Amino acid sequence: MDYPDRFDVIVIGGGHAGTEAALASARMGCQTLLLTHNIETLGQMSCNPAIGGIGKSHLVKEIDALGGAMAVATDLGGIQFRVLNARKGPAVRATRAQADRVRYKAAIRGMLENQPNLTLFQQAAGDLIVENDTVRGVVTETGIRFLAETVVLCTGTFLGGVIHIGLEQSRGGRAGDPPSNRLAERLRALPFRVDRLKTGTPPRLDARSLDFSQLEEQPGDTPTPVMSFMGRREQHPRQVSCHIAHTNERTHEIILANLDRSPMYSGVIEGVGPRYCPSIEDKVHRFADKSSHQVFIEPEGLETHELYPNGISTSLPFDVQLQVVRSIKGLENAHITRPGYAIEYDFFDPRDLKHSLETKFIHNLFFAGQINGTTGYEEAGAQGLLAGLNAARRAKGLEAWWPRRDEAYLGVLVDDLITLGTREPYRMFTSRAEYRLLLREDNADLRLTEAGRELGLVDDTRWAAFGEKREAIERESARLRACWVQPGTAAAMAVETKTGKPLSREYSLMDLLKRPELGYRDLADLPGIDGESVTDESVAEQVQIQAKYQGYIDRQQEEIDRLKRHEATPLPEDLDYSRVEGLSHEIRQKLAEAKPATLAQASRISGVTPAAVSILLIHLKKRR
Ligand code: FAD
Repeated sequence: MDYPDRFDVIVIGGGHAGTEAALASARMGCQTLLLTHNIETLGQMSCNPAIGGIGKSHLVKEIDALGGAMAVATDLGGIQFRVLNARKGPAVRATRAQADRVRYKAAIRGMLENQPNLTLFQQAAGDLIVENDTVRGVVTETGIRFLAETVVLCTGTFLGGVIHIGLEQSRGGRAGDPPSNRLAERLRALPFRVDRLKTGTPPRLDARSLDFSQLEEQPGDTPTPVMSFMGRREQHPRQVSCHIAHTNERTHEIILANLDRSPMYSGVIEGVGPRYCPSIEDKVHRFADKSSHQVFIEPEGLETHELYPNGISTSLPFDVQLQVVRSIKGLENAHITRPGYAIEYDFFDPRDLKHSLETKFIHNLFFAGQINGTTGYEEAGAQGLLAGLNAARRAKGLEAWWPRRDEAYLGVLVDDLITLGTREPYRMFTSRAEYRLLLREDNADLRLTEAGRELGLVDDTRWAAFGEKREAIERESARLRACWVQPGTAAAMAVETKTGKPLSREYSLMDLLKRPELGYRDLADLPGIDGESVTDESVAEQVQIQAKYQGYIDRQQEEIDRLKRHEATPLPEDLDYSRVEGLSHEIRQKLAEAKPATLAQASRISGVTPAAVSILLIHLKKRR
């Protein structure tokens, strides 16, 4: 039957890409249908219940700056928050939250159910309605036809999904969910380039069977960070600790003795797995010189005993998994509640997409998330938001929108995917962004919220809060530039006490703030200085970062210009990349294989970052 109502946008799949896509489209005023296998699994975290981390939190904050759901749900569901790289520069600082998977999912579902213009429907999509190379709608597996202007496909690991535990295989989209085989077949018949990738997950453990006295405790940060620019600490549920365990030589012996029973090493799995999130068998095999690997023991929620042992993802048979787990100190009596497994699935070559994430072959059809060769909730959510907003704009007859590489990690992600494609599951790193001093997690709102408002993604409450924050930053920066500290005054003496050096001449507060030994709070309320300091920590942080890093940011721009000038520099054929200091193992390997003729060619190889190109340039200069 034809469903009586017609939609502007249909989103298929209620994972991280699909939920952001549907919410974005509906926020923009489009009548949107979210069609998903199972309403109970909306926003489900297939693997680790954690959001953010290095490179990834930048995406989460960008989604948030554009009015999306992920950061808000993280604040409602997060049970341990930390800022990673806190002592390093702000470009690589990253917020990470362990989430209670039930609370996170409930938060996402709540947002979906309360979103005007959004309709949910539970059923699998079995086919696309395509006429004259243009998608017209979707047919469910029971034959209901939904018509729409545009369709966004966000089916994650479900297309042709095959689950592996040891040499046993079964069909599934993830443990407990069916695969999407009919849709996969249909899509394979369309002119897209399709290949297989693989990802894996560790066994889950029962906390009551662990000896925590043998593990190192890792509490969250105090004061507790928040993920959303609109977030408040008081929204967080009770906070708990994670713990750290270690594999040992015995663990590695067990793995090596059983590699022939691993589907990866016996050739059963063809798909390429995530290099940066390798299985434990991969780590032990690849890094044979390491006698131990860290295992983070992370709670899955506040009302469950289940734990996620982060670092031992595996597809070895269950009996080996049990031996591996029980060889770890503190886990000698561990009970596995769910075996680990690997999953192989279809993905589409993202080079067949435009920057808007519309496919090049079928008009009005957009792809987002894991099906584009990425891995991770954050990468999926960011693409979902972009595809959803562009599907909505197309339905309204508007031009596509996407951020540039110097505006957002989202811009880097999409540009990398559609220009370079990927041969392995793609995840975000700060090193992928050449403009990373500009693209910090702390300024995602300043970079994107105005654009989000123009696009119709940002509601009045967020817009008002953002406006106040932006004005407060400008006001306070102007005050710091206008206030001068004269030598010999009480203010100068206060500064001298903090720095241990005399003030030789007058300085503005802004100039003083650029000094590494002085922070905003040191200068905020000096005696005899006009005006009041700000109490909002996010404003103070922004004023401080902008003051301290302006010099670096300017230098980064110069570096980018310099690299552009050197693009034609030849790379000698006999260049031994293993001897180029500072390059990662992966980049060395890729360069050695590809043997690029020039720096420009090197820079276009997937995974060869602008930072790596810069290292090559320095190496070439040294060789001369
Ligand atoms: P998903 O979250 O997979 O959501 C897909 C949605 O589409 C589901 O709701 C599904 O029900 C629905 N759907 C599918 N087919 C249809 C259909 N025909 N009709 C209607 N609805 C449909 N990421 C990491 O960063 N690190 C890891 O270590 C990691 N390990 C993983 C291990 C496993 C076993 C799995 C399964 C995933 C792992 N991931 C990992 C990946 C992470 O889960 C995904 O990147 C993320 O969930 C992708 O989001 P998505 O929205 O693209 O797809």
